[in-house]
Amino acid sequence: MVKVKEELDANRAEAAMQATRYPTDRNQFDVYCDMCGEVFFVNEMTFEKISAALREGFDNPFICDDCRNELGETAYL
Ligand SMILES: [Zn+2]
Repeated sequence: MVKVKEELDANRAEAAMQATRYPTDRNQFDVYCDMCGEVFFVNEMTFEKISAALREGFDNPFICDDCRNELGETAYL
């Protein structure tokens, strides 16, 4: 039972910074999915995290939900 609750909390935290296909009040910054190349919109905090990774010379860390689901949970950022 405890394990299930932890998973629910994790899912909720993840949903709070979820990317959307269109700009919203919260998601104003466009990023490309590293796998499918589609444009998504994320909030400033997420965008900063992705930008910082790119500045440091890392690959684009953003992968959209669809691609992430295909890869499985372990691939998340
Ligand atoms: Zn994708």
